[in-house]
Amino acid sequence: MDKECFFQNTISDTFVIEGIGIHSGSLSRVKFHPAEENTGIVFLKNGYKVKAHVENVVDTSNSTSIGNGIVYFRTIEHIMAALYLANIDNVVIEFLDSEESPIMDGSACEFFKLLEKNRASQSAPKLFGYLSNIVRVSNENRYIMAKPNKELSITFEGFFGNFLKHQIYTYKSPIENLIKDKNLISARTFCHIEDIAKLKKMGLGKGGSLENNVVLTDSGILNKGGLRHSHEPVSHKVLDLIGDLYLAGIRFSANIYSYMGGHKLNVEFVKEAIKHIKTIEYTSEPAKIAS
Ligand SMILES: [Zn+2]
Repeated sequence: MDKECFFQNTISDTFVIEGIGIHSGSLSRVKFHPAEENTGIVFLKNGYKVKAHVENVVDTSNSTSIGNGIVYFRTIEHIMAALYLANIDNVVIEFLDSEESPIMDGSACEFFKLLEKNRASQSAPKLFGYLSNIVRVSNENRYIMAKPNKELSITFEGFFGNFLKHQIYTYKSPIENLIKDKNLISARTFCHIEDIAKLKKMGLGKGGSLENNVVLTDSGILNKGGLRHSHEPVSHKVLDLIGDLYLAGIRFSANIYSYMGGHKLNVEFVKEAIKHIKTIEYTSEPAKIAS
């Protein structure tokens, strides 16, 4: 395994990513700063710091947002997924103007590319967790269930409307597998055409367009060029789940199955799962640790 798998990583230098927020429609510039070992993922605005942790989640309607009652960081799930997949442990993410992260092309691509390019190894051992018990959370017919497993495996199953119908897909760690074919990182966020009016009514989706969002109809895809790959929407649901899983504050192995889960259920799942995560230093192959 590579060195970055055993030791913590930060970034070598600051960089800024800018774009519009999908819900706010406002211009957003986000500055990534290197951080010391054992800092974790910390968001910063106007001098206030909020750790990317499930206890700081303030909203899960159509995206995941954290805050401290004074400052808020909205729609952070694609940044969190990119940090997870780029193997970054310590970073400070400063929101320079908007409360919402930029949506970019609707995927984690832009964040991932810059994070991976700037990744810098540190000398503290990486902490790693594994699930010790079965965890299940549900909400009506939706549920997420996880079983102890020596590797991370994530399956999402759901119904994606009359055109795509039923989709199920599994991604398995190690991270190299998750990022190898780029289908996960490049999977864009999506909505059904009938959801657009509902979102606008809620004051959301103001920045949404065919440039940053896949629009599904009963007969096809509105975006020119269609989907990037046949399982793009289900892949995006896995990407969102990975971003929310990283709000545990640690990577952990488990066999996770989500049936129609969204941010609300993802966060409930992480809150429950952290009660059953055993933490270890990631200094040897996980296969030798968890069985
Ligand atoms: Zn998403």
